[in-house]
Amino acid sequence: MTRSITILGATGSIGASTLDLVRSNPDLWRVEAVTANCSAGDLARLAREFDAKLAVVGDEACLGDLKAALAGTAIEAAGGSQALCDAARIPVDVTVAAIVGCAGLEPVMAAVERGGTIALANKEALVSSGEILKSAVERSGATLLPTDSEHNAIFQCLAGDSIENVRRIILTASGGPFRTFGAEQLKTVTREQALKHPNWDMGAKITIDSATMMNKGLEFIEAHHLFPVGLDRIEIVVHPQSIVHSMVEYRDRSTLAQLGPSDMRVPIASCLAWPERMETDLKPLNLAEIGQLTFEPTNEDLFPATRICREAIEAGGSAPAILNAANEIAVAAFLNGQIGFMDITAVVESTLSTYAAKAPGTLDDVLHIDAQARMRAKQSLESRALV
Ligand code: NAD
Ligand code: MG
Repeated sequence: MTRSITILGATGSIGASTLDLVRSNPDLWRVEAVTANCSAGDLARLAREFDAKLAVVGDEACLGDLKAALAGTAIEAAGGSQALCDAARIPVDVTVAAIVGCAGLEPVMAAVERGGTIALANKEALVSSGEILKSAVERSGATLLPTDSEHNAIFQCLAGDSIENVRRIILTASGGPFRTFGAEQLKTVTREQALKHPNWDMGAKITIDSATMMNKGLEFIEAHHLFPVGLDRIEIVVHPQSIVHSMVEYRDRSTLAQLGPSDMRVPIASCLAWPERMETDLKPLNLAEIGQLTFEPTNEDLFPATRICREAIEAGGSAPAILNAANEIAVAAFLNGQIGFMDITAVVESTLSTYAAKAPGTLDDVLHIDAQARMRAKQSLESRALV
């Protein structure tokens, strides 16, 4: 039977991987809506190829271009943040949440409030608003399927077992492109070096987050919300080959791991077909060819991001939302050549110094904290600017 799918963030890396699976399984999927921030040409091309009913650009200024690019088709075009939320509310079998950053928060909430099944890649939404989103999930009966490879691995390792039996969750981290670098080398790394991830092909923001290890810190918080075993039971281990995507240790000391190629189509396929499985045409894992799977501890002296994230979630209150906002600003500044690599975590840490103990109660509270934190992070940038 054909199932319907909406892809929020269709022009990005996760969007492309999702649509690639749809392309290989045309009898399984019918695309309802696709969204992007702007890139009207790319979005229109995807909407035409997959015969979507609706295409939405978040940036209203791009709506004219989108309409022009869709002229002569029956595909509806819309623009603006409200239109993104409307797309997220369309009843479909699966909504893939693949917008990057806090920009995805309101659409994710819209999809959750509808009570649908959401393949959640947009980790920043959970980091900023974990408790609020989880309460909404409980109210609406929505299903969150973790799409991030580590969380999808944990989800698969937990299948059929109770969380009470879990002793530890072990998140694996590739260590990023600078895993073997020393302190002096890290000070001078360039944007181009940071954008070259050794194992994964991903969007720019998450690639920089992987280089600073902020990605693993955000994933630590994401894991805490998705699998509430207690913060002291979530550990991080560096595994440079990115073959073991994470592990669950049970109280009898049995440890289950999920392995697979470093290709996001694997966890995405697991979400799309859940609770069944679907065929993918990816190259199967050849362990004899890979030869060695190695593991080492994280180095928080050189890569403080995982410590900063752990402290932020322990502190609670507004800290996780501030952390995420400051990181988005700092990563954008690094990508623009405004600050150095080591300044990214420094900006985040200095912005966090003004956190409030009171936790946000609503999405509006989170958006307010996010906006304030962005302003403070920008002030912190100025004192570090390279030019
Ligand atoms: P990307 O930058 O490649 O794509 C982001 C998508 O979001 C694009 O379609 C873009 O148009 C849209 N977008 C960006 N800003 C927007 C805005 N303000 N309003 C509306 N839409 C906007 O990012 P990606 O690598 O595909 O990552 C998407 C999400 O998935 C992120 O949260 C990331 O952390 C998570 N994730 C990605 C990977 C990966 O392999 N790429 C793996 C795990 C998790
Ligand atoms: Mg991940």
